[in-house]
Amino acid sequence: MMSRAQQEASNGMQLEEITPPDPRLAGWNADDAPVAMRCLACVVEPKQASSLIRELHDALPASSGGVAHVKRVKKGDDGSLRVVLAAEAVYDDVSNEDAYRALLTRRSELAREALEVVLVPAQPPVTRAHFEQGARLWPLARPPASDRTASPTHDDVLSEARPRLEAAERDRVQLSSLRAPGTTPKCAGGGAVLYDPLTGCESLTAADELRQLMDERTPANHPLLHAPMLVVRAQARRQRRKRSEGAPPSEAYLCTGMDVYMTDEPCVMCAMALLHSRVRRAVYRRRDSEMGGLGSVESVHALSSTNHRFRAWRVVEDGVS
Ligand SMILES: [Zn+2]
Repeated sequence: MMSRAQQEASNGMQLEEITPPDPRLAGWNADDAPVAMRCLACVVEPKQASSLIRELHDALPASSGGVAHVKRVKKGDDGSLRVVLAAEAVYDDVSNEDAYRALLTRRSELAREALEVVLVPAQPPVTRAHFEQGARLWPLARPPASDRTASPTHDDVLSEARPRLEAAERDRVQLSSLRAPGTTPKCAGGGAVLYDPLTGCESLTAADELRQLMDERTPANHPLLHAPMLVVRAQARRQRRKRSEGAPPSEAYLCTGMDVYMTDEPCVMCAMALLHSRVRRAVYRRRDSEMGGLGSVESVHALSSTNHRFRAWRVVEDGVS
């Protein structure tokens, strides 16, 4: 609960978390042990390990194999090295790519009959304890940014959200000035900003991306260019630019660790796009009882059947519902 002073300071704005995902569903048991995921791995000669990993980086990236959150290599007690290739559930799909098939012809250790099933933590660690417990199964790529980031308090989320929700409202106005009036559905008519709390880089806005697309001759009323889609595309554009400037390719997903702030509840399609790009947190102001994908029609952020979940809040304040 917020104190009276805090309540007054926030001008009545409160956030309500929408069906918070069960932490056990997110891949970690109550005793901090990981839920295991079956993956395929190969045994590699130590001398061959670094060249194989380099080749896999292009031919079978850890992100397409669903294993970006774990280290690629594990050393066994006997000194043997195992390289994880992909989650068993997606291996048949991802191993069908041309680049990987070309690699198969050169690398006998990747022959299907030589592969082993290994168990790795199904999800990235949320706490330091997860990181340590998970490593007993298979080493994790990186520790959580901080436990505080993983479990923010209401006041933390609110103070980060306030200026960015205002930016999203400005974005909504700019977007509608770019579009012909009355031609866009509600989700598309909202505003959105994408913020990276780790780098603190300037937020990406939907209107900036729409302007860029219009410069590239995409019609402003393209039916799929809803504001949440636009900020995900803006992030893809930023990554392309960084790579063209010589930044190393990242194995993280497009929006790993990023937060999205929206004036309106995203539709189910947009909520799925946020899920696939692996946002960390979503906050929105107005619900959409007809199409809303974060709590109204669906709760896409908290589905038990998907391999990523994120936390979502909506604003509760007078005059907004
Ligand atoms: Zn949408």
